[in-house]
Amino acid sequence: RRYDRQAGRPRPHPVVGVERVRRQRHQLRHGDAGPADPRVLDAMLKVPRHKFVEEALAGKSYQDAPLPIGEKQTISQPYMVAVMSEALMLDGSETVLEVGTGSGYQAAVLALLADRVFSLERIPSLARRARKVLDDNGFSKVNIRLADGTVGWQDMAPFDGIIVTAGAPKVPQEYLDQLSLGGRLIIPVGDRESQVLMRITRVGEAEYKEEKMLGCRFVPLIGNQGWKQEN
Ligand code: SAH
Repeated sequence: RRYDRQAGRPRPHPVVGVERVRRQRHQLRHGDAGPADPRVLDAMLKVPRHKFVEEALAGKSYQDAPLPIGEKQTISQPYMVAVMSEALMLDGSETVLEVGTGSGYQAAVLALLADRVFSLERIPSLARRARKVLDDNGFSKVNIRLADGTVGWQDMAPFDGIIVTAGAPKVPQEYLDQLSLGGRLIIPVGDRESQVLMRITRVGEAEYKEEKMLGCRFVPLIGNQGWKQEN
């Protein structure tokens, strides 16, 4: 951390302006890990991730790692946000549902990639904080609702994309039903400790294509069609 001579102390958080973009570019472009879709890279460079974590963690917010956001939840690793966002294959015209608002970061990225964004969160304090951060940073178009997201959001369906940012024991039927024709569902499915990220595309009225993408570790999706309880 650089020292600020005038202020007589280290610079608070080296994550603003040019420095932030430099770090983020590095974070997103190293090796094969960065998104290939320029729209996704561009969106992620525009969203200030340090605003979506508590101040004490801001200095770590441009490392490629998940970070705690309170209530035993985490903001996903940027690489995972990139992979999932890219897997949705958005061109800007879509209506998208996110399950698991958390910090609001993924929702902000989606706001730059899709037309309409709906996001469901089950923990009141997280939903509240995400609402404020999104409003304060120009992402008011994201619609957040406090609800059990394992049954989707019937009133706003169909969705061209559904992205689930918590690990599910199985694919809830509601998500399949709420996809538009051609719509994509990105969801980690597995046990509580580790999952496989899946992309499920609705290719016909009752026909779905399933692709296994990669292994991952998400916090549990808890609710009616998810895990039964926290522990
Ligand atoms: N997308 C978030 C990361 C979220 S972590 C971000 O960018 O920060 C997973 C979130 O899913 C947690 O906030 C957790 O409370 C939420 N969650 C778990 N089960 C849920 C459910 N049934 N409905 C809605 N949200 C749920």
